[in-house]
Amino acid sequence: MSNFLSGHNRIVIKIGSSLLIDRERGVKRTWLESLGEDIVRLKEEGRQVMIVSSGAIAMGRKLLKMPRGPLKLEDSQASAAVGQIALSRIYSEIFGRQGYEVGQVLLTIGDTEERRRYLNARATIMTLLDLGAVPVINENDTVATNEIRYGDNDRLAARVATMVDADLLVLLSDVDGLYTAPPLEDPNAEHVPLVETITPAIEKMAGAAGSELSRGGMKTKIDAGKIATESGTAMIITAGQRLYPLSAIEKGERATLFQASGTPRSARKRWIAGHLNPPGRLGVDDGALKALREGKSLLPAGIVSVEGEFSRGDPVLITRYDGMEVGRGIVAYDSEDAVRIAGLRSSAVNEALGYEARAAMVHRDDLVLAVALEVACQEADAAE
Ligand code: GLU
Repeated sequence: MSNFLSGHNRIVIKIGSSLLIDRERGVKRTWLESLGEDIVRLKEEGRQVMIVSSGAIAMGRKLLKMPRGPLKLEDSQASAAVGQIALSRIYSEIFGRQGYEVGQVLLTIGDTEERRRYLNARATIMTLLDLGAVPVINENDTVATNEIRYGDNDRLAARVATMVDADLLVLLSDVDGLYTAPPLEDPNAEHVPLVETITPAIEKMAGAAGSELSRGGMKTKIDAGKIATESGTAMIITAGQRLYPLSAIEKGERATLFQASGTPRSARKRWIAGHLNPPGRLGVDDGALKALREGKSLLPAGIVSVEGEFSRGDPVLITRYDGMEVGRGIVAYDSEDAVRIAGLRSSAVNEALGYEARAAMVHRDDLVLAVALEVACQEADAAE
């Protein structure tokens, strides 16, 4: 496990409520400061790090002096409203002191499941990372209802990690990894340091437990592991209670590593390439073919035809003049706007749409190129 963090460039750290909040004293500030220093160190080594923080409800119920025990929905929503702002202030102070801004991102389940909203959330988090800020993400528990919510931040963190193509998700928890059986129930349970693939046998080891402060037990952690690893993100579960919990992982502290089943890129691109019926087609000119070959994004200027009805975030085929497929991608505009801006230079796009638009029709991160692209480029060269 030592050196393990150093092999990863985009890392999501999930913090469980029970690590962060003490029922009597509130936020465990010294601990959080030590984690903050760990994160700043990683950032200064050139890595992008974001936090998925639980603890809003736990913090809010303490501030509002709510009784122990399960909360009614409206009480937990109110607790989240009060707790979230308090938590954000503390994050902002801790990172601010070290020269970093914090960006609060509150997501509902629709933001990760609906493709358009997914892309929006992704773009915001990516921009925060590019700007050097530390995104601090949580479920928007103030508006989430029992039926429409994640409820646990383990799976939310896994979705966020795959959304931003993170290569590592670290679940800081009150358990130091997976055991062959729930350790509190079975004294013979043995720690499992490495999980190569999440098989039904691994799932059975998890049991179902959770505590009053944190919703996710080992089961939601395994569910998170499935979401993450199938999309190319490795996952570590470790006990986060000690100070400098990320340094502790590097020093070989006990943990379970779930290996990723592919690289982040190939998993995302598999999703794009594997779509059965892309609802749209973008015909492109020779200049665009060459730009694609050089690894650039597909800009509106290079588009000569738009077919089909699609929404922003849908997969589309990219074709040359005779319909030959040269690639596939996720489109950044819906079909109406795509028709309106096809062939326009970037400067004219904003004017045509009446708002400050995105530069690319299909961003290069959202493109999968076909072998036929090379052929198309050679033919275009020969025709010149
Ligand atoms: N989103 C919840 C909160 O901030 C926590 C969910 C969980 O414990 O996983 O309070």
